[in-house]
Amino acid sequence: TRRKLVAGNWKMHGLRDAVREVEAIAAAAAAHPDVDVALYVPTTLLALAAEHAGTLAIGAQDVHERDSGAHTGCISAPMLREAGATTVIVGHSERRADQNETSHDAWAKAAAARRHGLSVILCCGETEAERDAGRAERVVQAQIEKSVPEDASGDWFTLAYEPRWAIGTGRTPTVEEIAAIHAIARAKMRQMVGEAADGIRILYGGSVTGANAGTILAAPHVDGALVGGASLTAEKFVPIIEAAA
Ligand code: 13P
Repeated sequence: TRRKLVAGNWKMHGLRDAVREVEAIAAAAAAHPDVDVALYVPTTLLALAAEHAGTLAIGAQDVHERDSGAHTGCISAPMLREAGATTVIVGHSERRADQNETSHDAWAKAAAARRHGLSVILCCGETEAERDAGRAERVVQAQIEKSVPEDASGDWFTLAYEPRWAIGTGRTPTVEEIAAIHAIARAKMRQMVGEAADGIRILYGGSVTGANAGTILAAPHVDGALVGGASLTAEKFVPIIEAAA
């Protein structure tokens, strides 16, 4: 059976004083050894956060597909490893929107992370217009087809379903809608990687809070949550960890 994973994505939030929150979140992770907990901090906080992590996994929010080279401003997987990251998010919808990243980019980034021993959360999810047009399932299937690596397995790879219209909006799909997409996502991955797909966790992300986490985490096919705003403080994030325990 798949252990639950509660992941916090700090996005572009956090200066050094936020290490207090890392410490408090790490304490909650240590207190709940039955749940995997990960925190994806800004690059500038990786090394400091890793010093305070304990059983909390510390990760980055992007990685370059190459190990080194003339790529101004980019960070490679070996650099992230050296800074103390053990995991990375790829293909987040904000990078797809702001940096024009594609599903193929996410695939290449996941492969680079894997080469250097970083685990990966790969994000997918439809826009509001796509959902309204009845295309959510097909969009997610196509993203998975283009981005999930052929050697994906649960020991290093996690999929996150984050409908774009649910991110930072306070709106979420119904649990039935979430379960339906997760089931389709797993079926798609089974076509691609066979039985290994059954070990791959599928997280839900988009306006998860302490108030709705219990319901969402109990839904069929939901193996955890990827949390933005409600991961920025221990006060908001720890109840979500507790809901997964
Ligand atoms: P919110 O939880 O703030 O909606 O963000 C979700 C997200 O994008 C996590 O990666």
